[in-house]
Amino acid sequence: MISFYPGPSRVDENIPEYVREAYEQGILSLNHRSKAFMQICERTIGLLKSKLHIPEDYTVFFTSSATECWEIIAQSLIEVNSYHFYNGAFGKKWFDYTRKLKYQAIGYQFDPEQELKIGEMDLSSETGVICITQNETSNGTQVNLSRIVKLRKKYPDHLIAVDATSSMAGMHLDFSQADVWYSSVQKCFGLPAGLAVMICSPTAIKHSRKLQENRHYNSFNFIVENIEKFQTPYTPNVLGIYLLMRVMENRKPIGKVEKKLRKRLRNYEAIFSESDQFSLLICNKNVRSETVIVLEGNPENIEALKKKAEKEGITLGNGYGELKSSTFRIANFPSLKKEEVKALHKFLKKNILQ
Ligand SMILES: *Cc1c(COP(=O)(O)O)cnc(C)c1O
Repeated sequence: MISFYPGPSRVDENIPEYVREAYEQGILSLNHRSKAFMQICERTIGLLKSKLHIPEDYTVFFTSSATECWEIIAQSLIEVNSYHFYNGAFGKKWFDYTRKLKYQAIGYQFDPEQELKIGEMDLSSETGVICITQNETSNGTQVNLSRIVKLRKKYPDHLIAVDATSSMAGMHLDFSQADVWYSSVQKCFGLPAGLAVMICSPTAIKHSRKLQENRHYNSFNFIVENIEKFQTPYTPNVLGIYLLMRVMENRKPIGKVEKKLRKRLRNYEAIFSESDQFSLLICNKNVRSETVIVLEGNPENIEALKKKAEKEGITLGNGYGELKSSTFRIANFPSLKKEEVKALHKFLKKNILQ
C-alpha cells in the first residue's frame, strides 16, 4: 500500500534498515544522560540546522507532538495575551487549546481564499504572542512567507509563533522571521509519529527567562536548560531522534526538496484542472498549500474514488473536520517516491478524466 495520507504519512523508505541498525548498535537501550545519546542529539540538531537553513543562534529541541508544542507555548510563553489567526481546523484547535490555559486568548478567523491581511490587524496589547498556522493541513492553505515578513515588521515587539507541522522539511521557511516554529515528524519529515521539533529565536528564550515559568515537566525554560547539554527533561523518544538523524543525513538541502514538490504540485494541478468531478478546494494560488492538496467533490464520487484507489494499493487521505466528506487529501511530501507519485498520476488520469 502507498499512503498519500497527509499524516501519519508514507515514511522514508530506509526506516526498516535504520530501526534494525538502532537495535543492533544498542541505541534503543541508550541512557539519555549518556555521552552517546548527547552526541546523537547534537548531530541531529546540527543536521536540522544545516539542511533546513535554521539560523545558527536559534535553539532547536524535541517534544513529543505538535499538540505538546501548543501547550508549551500557552503555559510558558504566553503571559496574558495571544492572538490566533486561523482559517481551518488545526489553527482553531491551537486557539481552543490555548484558551483553556490562557483565557484572554483572542481568535481571528479569516477566509481560506484570502491572504492574511496584516494591514487590518489591530492587536489589543503592545505585547503578546501572535499565533499563525503556516500550512493548514485541513483545507490545504498556506500563509505565505512574505506575509510573515510583513507581520514581523508591523509587530517587532510581539513574539510570533508558527505551526509549520505539515510544511517544515517540505518547503523553505525563513526561520529568522518568527520566534517559535514547530512541527511533528509524521508529515514532511517522513518518520513515524511520536516526536516533534521546536525551533526558537534568542528573543523567545529571553522572553521565557523573564517569565520564569517553571511549573511543568515540559516548561520551556526547563527544556532549554537541558538541551544546552544536549539532554532532555524526561526520557525522550531516542529511536525517533535517531531516525530523524539518519533521515536528515540523506535529505537534500531544502531548496532542492521544495523544487521537487513544486513540480509535483503543478502536475496534480494540471490533472485536476481537466476533471469535472473533482477540483482543488482552494482557487487562489497565492494561498494554496504546496504540501497538502485538498480536492473537493460530491461525497459519493469521493467515496467511490477512495475505494477504487484502495483496490489498487493507493490510500488517499480523508477530508478533515467539517470537510470530511466533501473533500479528500493528497500528501505532497518528500518521502513519497517518484514511482509512487507516478502510480497515483496514472490512477487519477484513468479514473477521473472521462
Ligand atoms: C498534524 C498537525 C498537528 C497535530 O500534530 P500532532 O503531532 O498530532 O500533535 C498540528 N498542526 C498541524 C498544522 C498539523 O498538520
